[in-house]
Amino acid sequence: MKPLEILKRHYGHNAFRPGQETVVNSILAGHDTFAIMPTGAGKSICYQIPALMMDGLSLVVSPLISLMKDQVDQLHESGIAATTINSSLSFAEMKKRLQAAARGKYKLLYLAPERLEMEGFRSMLESIPLSLVTIDEAHCISQWGHDFRPSYRSVAHWVRHLPQRPVVAAFTATATQEVRNDITNLLRFDPDHIFIAPLTRDNLTFSVKHGVDRRDYVTRYLSKRPGQPGIIYCATRKETDQVHRFLVERGFQAGKYHAGLTEEERHQAQEAFAFDRLQVMVATNAFGMGIDKSNVRFVIHWQMPGNLESYYQEAGRAGRDGEAADCILLFSPSDVRTQSFLIESNTLTAELKERERRKLQQMRQYCHTQRCLQQMLAHHFGDYTAISCKRCSNCANQGEQQDITLEAQKILSCVRRMRERFGVSMTAKVLKGSRNKRVKELKLDRLPTYGLLQNWTEKAITHRIHVLAAEGYLHITDEEFPRLTLTPVAAEVLKGKRSVLLRVKQEKKPQASVKKEL
Ligand code: ADP
Repeated sequence: MKPLEILKRHYGHNAFRPGQETVVNSILAGHDTFAIMPTGAGKSICYQIPALMMDGLSLVVSPLISLMKDQVDQLHESGIAATTINSSLSFAEMKKRLQAAARGKYKLLYLAPERLEMEGFRSMLESIPLSLVTIDEAHCISQWGHDFRPSYRSVAHWVRHLPQRPVVAAFTATATQEVRNDITNLLRFDPDHIFIAPLTRDNLTFSVKHGVDRRDYVTRYLSKRPGQPGIIYCATRKETDQVHRFLVERGFQAGKYHAGLTEEERHQAQEAFAFDRLQVMVATNAFGMGIDKSNVRFVIHWQMPGNLESYYQEAGRAGRDGEAADCILLFSPSDVRTQSFLIESNTLTAELKERERRKLQQMRQYCHTQRCLQQMLAHHFGDYTAISCKRCSNCANQGEQQDITLEAQKILSCVRRMRERFGVSMTAKVLKGSRNKRVKELKLDRLPTYGLLQNWTEKAITHRIHVLAAEGYLHITDEEFPRLTLTPVAAEVLKGKRSVLLRVKQEKKPQASVKKEL
């Protein structure tokens, strides 16, 4: 049978989606294959179809028991023999399944990476010829990824030393260049067999909201969507509890999920959400990989997360059924402080902290960019084919283009006068002409750029500095106390060789703007 026939017969789909067939063919041709595909693109089929067509057993390394169970249940529904070996099984049951696998009863066997670190288990597995080893959620391999699982690394080592080397396939939804390099080096993928599916998803509308009253915004948003399921992500457990309480008091059917709840409580909340007994799940990022709900109509981030990888993965849980869905980020400058605090209070090495700070800056740029949001995300994850989506809050709400060169020059020149030694907040104070004690102590009030934007509020100056940073005129360093520095483009602006154009969004009264968004 050909791949397409299997797709039709077992899965009931008429055609492959973009990227799927290439990946299937690469694996079938015996190449180790690395595929980067967005959530919902249909990764599972890409290794399951080859698994069905190849002789022997395919092993699938997966990070979560719940994910494995879902996959195996779905395979059973499609009439495919598959099983899982996990820590919830007795030794006798595990042995039974392995023996059945050795007799050829199953085509796919799912297990956690830790299992392959157990000597006894590995020797039992040795007698079974493996055709394919699939590493699902492969970003867990990389210590630069946000879900690093050390055991994932030993899978690579184990595969390499097998007497009969199976084909290896790795899949992930989010991989930055760093993570991708790490996976590629560890598993030694040939660049010819690394595939990046288009990362944009036409059914998702991304937006960033600045300065909204979050409670008011969410209340209005939910009221307009009775019965439509969605997730609200909060940065902390405390915030999750508070938002949940608020929504329940307002009469919404909301549940909550975070690592501070008992397993039973979390399980119940997840089930209630899965079966539409709850409209909204308020959660921390603990509510994650195991969610297999395709009709999530919106993902709202109550706060800005710490990096774009987490953001895209969480937001990407919306609209997996292909129907329209919203991914909304409610931004407040204090979110950056929360995330900075989380980084600085962490026990990371200096190098890792620097990376986290850099990622936080990228996240912040997303919140301030004027570019298409979806395009920016796609580019960040290496899909340079993405064009403007024409739907996101930046594409849809483009105001008049204005020449702000003079104002940009004032800001850039102030950064230069301050010798690139200070951060955003201090720069904004100097431009405002603030009487702040530190400004005076440091004699910054003597600079010629002091008070150049005195008619602006400090908040507006801060925002404009971030917009200039997001557009590449300024750089924010990765230090614990980030400094503003000038980029080569800034030098051109200061010399008058380049003008700065900015689309100034129409300012609306909060009430009116909320109405328009609903
Ligand atoms: P991922 O693991 O990439 O997030 P899944 O493998 O869970 O995605 O697939 C997401 C959904 O897309 C599933 O409901 C699956 O049945 C569906 N799907 C996958 N491939 C196709 C296809 N070629 N045509 C139609 N639906 C598909």
